[in-house]
Amino acid sequence: MKIKIESNDFEEKSYCHLCGSAFHPAEVVAQAYKESGEYITNVCPQCIAVGERGIRLRMRRRAESLRAIASELEKLAAEEIESPSLDRFKIINQIAKALR
Ligand SMILES: [Zn+2]
Repeated sequence: MKIKIESNDFEEKSYCHLCGSAFHPAEVVAQAYKESGEYITNVCPQCIAVGERGIRLRMRRRAESLRAIASELEKLAAEEIESPSLDRFKIINQIAKALR
C-alpha cells in the first residue's frame, strides 16, 4: 500500500477506511493505493500523524473491531427479526413531522 498526497477537489466529509475515522480534508488529502495502483481510501490526518508503523497498528485495530462487528451481526441475523413495515414507518414519520 502506498499513500500519496493529492489535491482535494471536494469539501465533503471524508472517511478513512484504514482506521474508521471521519474527517474533513483540507486543501490536500492523503490517499491510499494498492500496489496495483487501485485506489483504496482517503487517509485521515491522525493516521498520517502516527507514521507507517502507527498506521499498521491502526489498521489492525480497525480489522479487529470489524471482525467483532461481523461476528455480532452474524449472531443477530440468526435471531428472530421483528420490524415494522415501510408503510407503518412512513405513517409514523408523517405523524411525528406534523407534531413538530
Ligand atoms: Zn485513519
